[in-house]
Amino acid sequence: EVRVRFAPSPTGHLHIGGARSALFNYLFARSQNGKFILRIEDTDQARNVETATEKLMASLKWLGIEWDESVDIGGEYGPYRSMERMDVYTKYIEQLLEEGKAYYCYMTEEELAAEREAQLAKGQAPKYSGRDRNLTAEQRKDYEEKGIKPVIRFLVKEGEKVVIDDAVRGEVTFETDGIGDFVIARGDGVPTYNFAVVVDDHLMKISHVIRAEEHLSNAPRQALVFEAFGWEKPKFAHASLILNPDRQKMSKRDESIMQFVEQYKNLGYLPEAIVNFLALLGWSPVGEEEIFTMDELIEQFSLERVSKAPAVFDTDKLAWMNNQYVKEADTERLTDLAVPHFQEAGKLPESLDTEQREWVKKLVALYQEQMHYAAEIVELTDLFFKTEIEYNEEAKEVLAEEQVPEVMKQFAEEIDALEGFEPADVKKAVKATQKATGQKGKKLFMPIRVAVTGQTHGPELPHAISLLGPDVVKARLRQAVN
Ligand code: GLU
Repeated sequence: EVRVRFAPSPTGHLHIGGARSALFNYLFARSQNGKFILRIEDTDQARNVETATEKLMASLKWLGIEWDESVDIGGEYGPYRSMERMDVYTKYIEQLLEEGKAYYCYMTEEELAAEREAQLAKGQAPKYSGRDRNLTAEQRKDYEEKGIKPVIRFLVKEGEKVVIDDAVRGEVTFETDGIGDFVIARGDGVPTYNFAVVVDDHLMKISHVIRAEEHLSNAPRQALVFEAFGWEKPKFAHASLILNPDRQKMSKRDESIMQFVEQYKNLGYLPEAIVNFLALLGWSPVGEEEIFTMDELIEQFSLERVSKAPAVFDTDKLAWMNNQYVKEADTERLTDLAVPHFQEAGKLPESLDTEQREWVKKLVALYQEQMHYAAEIVELTDLFFKTEIEYNEEAKEVLAEEQVPEVMKQFAEEIDALEGFEPADVKKAVKATQKATGQKGKKLFMPIRVAVTGQTHGPELPHAISLLGPDVVKARLRQAVN
């Protein structure tokens, strides 16, 4: 049975890289009728953030990535939070200690630092020397009496090879000489990630470990722990790195890109678009099509088409992709997303009555084709939220044409004669203006458009005029010839 997991550490919001890993695991699980497990790896306690688990879960849910077992819903192999599994880890650490596969190490931070420096000075790669591998009971007692709290190290035999059979990279070979005896439990007895992850993956019957390339270097350590227990290893699959738009490795402080799923949500991106975009970061479908629903992704996903070449996070492409979904989205839903942004910008009141809501919805509909994400609409629709507008040079040129005063005057009169002010009514007023002035085509439409919107191109004119209302429109017609 396929059982995969996403195992974030609760250190903050869901990172786009984490979301990509979660998605690949989810798609793989669903495509194989397997199970997707969400495990919270919180043994690095200094880095834990109080509300991070809830935030991670909220972002995953928003994306439509649902788990079959986790801290909230339980499951057969729980608990699913590492710190609640201490007794399990302790038992397995004991076993390694008894079998001589792990040992106590009393080296202090200062001693370790000195050792590293000495190695560097000799031009060697820093690696734990193994000083405490063979301590006598006597020596241990001495250290204990000095009050030194030991860590527990896993004994890595020199001169061996560890081969990781990776679904994405093929066989990757590591030399144990490069690894060194690594810490599996800290002074307080809490295991490190590289140990806990193995125990958990084994006990939770994880069949495939799908994660990002930055964990590839952890794989040999984990493989050694699996072997020490005589456990079968899961199949590893290390997806590519995600590079920022400048093709640089992303750092936490990188400002060329928004790194957290919640930031996209807050700007009114659509989760379907984010999912679609993330799926294409390091996985490629067969064929040219780029737009996929979650179900289509599940149908098409395979580990064979996960790439090891770095994937570039192209923000323009994401905006394009989101626009593809915005165009097709229900206007009501987009309006829900847009309203808070208008309110935040002080353009709409705290609560809207039915009429105001209808008006905003029409405004959203007018810009739906063009809008990349909901927050963008505030800037796009600026002209609807003020009485006077500014005319730029191009606009002024249009308004300087000789027929303009007559067109403005006539159009204002035709507006006054209207009974309704729907787009169809506005069209009638334009027609009547054409008849009365003899102006048509560009000479008629362009001055009206420019006078009313300040722009030579923009949204559908009758709709825009209808939404502006007769008073604002007439004020602008007057302003235009002043
Ligand atoms: N807790 C690890 C992380 O957040 C999980 C890595 C793994 O999938 O093994 O990076």
